[in-house]
Amino acid sequence: MTDLYAFRHLYVHIPFCKHKCGYCDFNAYAGMDRLMPDYVDGLERELAFARERYPFQQLDTVYFGGGTPSLLPPELMSRLLHFIRSSFNVAPDAEITLEANPASTDEARLAAWLEGGVNRLSLGVQGFDPRALAVLERKTDAAQATRAFGLAREMGMGNISIDLIYAVPYQNLQTWLETLRRAIALGPDHVSTYCLSFEEGTLLFRRRAEGRVPEVETDLQWDQLDAACAELEAAGYHRYEVSNWARAGGFESRHNRAYWRCRPVYGAGAGAHSYATDGTLAWRWWNVARPREYIAAAPLPRADGEELDHRKAVAESLMLGLRTAEGVAVPAGFDAELARLQKAGLIERLNGRVVPTRRGLDLHNQIALAVL
Ligand code: SF4
Repeated sequence: MTDLYAFRHLYVHIPFCKHKCGYCDFNAYAGMDRLMPDYVDGLERELAFARERYPFQQLDTVYFGGGTPSLLPPELMSRLLHFIRSSFNVAPDAEITLEANPASTDEARLAAWLEGGVNRLSLGVQGFDPRALAVLERKTDAAQATRAFGLAREMGMGNISIDLIYAVPYQNLQTWLETLRRAIALGPDHVSTYCLSFEEGTLLFRRRAEGRVPEVETDLQWDQLDAACAELEAAGYHRYEVSNWARAGGFESRHNRAYWRCRPVYGAGAGAHSYATDGTLAWRWWNVARPREYIAAAPLPRADGEELDHRKAVAESLMLGLRTAEGVAVPAGFDAELARLQKAGLIERLNGRVVPTRRGLDLHNQIALAVL
């Protein structure tokens, strides 16, 4: 790996959760809170080492994802934020996002986040309908989500995103519409809507296999996606990526855009992935997943990695770029694939770029299959 492009985006994984939700296949663990101080020590060791080993420029985005970053006690999160600010050159207007669960969003934490420079909150609301929340085993309720949102706004969080999940068993079109309307009524700057997936190995997958949770009709999923497009667009949000809507004024996620544009992102923490490129080849590597192993391995927690040859790197950037409404500049060497996608009505060409159609955004998995 010579002459790598510099990293301008940093992801920090916080793997702790109060409860492991039945649908979750993220690298997240319940009942390990006592490891938090050692974990933050480990993160500091990894980050200090990475800072020496890899090229970093001024950071444009920092993203704390999980797990549940909001679970970290405020002193520990404060310490981590200050460590990052003192070790890296964080741009004065950097986007610093923290994923928060409404149940652990309180005054003391919000004060610590704001003081440490967090300026974007991604609130894991998931829904407002008790039946859908029960299937997801979310321990938070609508009242908590509304309270957390209001408190964050009141204390000065200027940019708040809300996550919602559809295609949840027992959720019908009406309850989904009500969920969308309640979310919109809060006035978020950004909304993500994810289609529930049943991942092998999760409790929800098992429960469905045993017939204890009903299937969700495909037609209903499409109707729910349609409803999201209609409601959010009518409320002034534009769909700039498969699952993401932003209100006007530059509220698209700058950090996620870095992934979709295949920019180098350094991922620190348990199970975190990094992506690096020299403009021709690309490399991806990931850290050991379990927090205890991570703590023991830091500052060198890398588990494994892979090199992407030029064609594979371009194919990935095409696939990821076509997740976004802005699309990508037409790449060389993919004429046949692009012609097929255009014929299927999934993409179109606009001013030297290739962009997804509405159908292409809805059926992005078909684009991915065609180009990878
Ligand atoms: S809170 Fe989020 S990361 Fe944690 S277990 Fe639930 S879905 Fe997974």
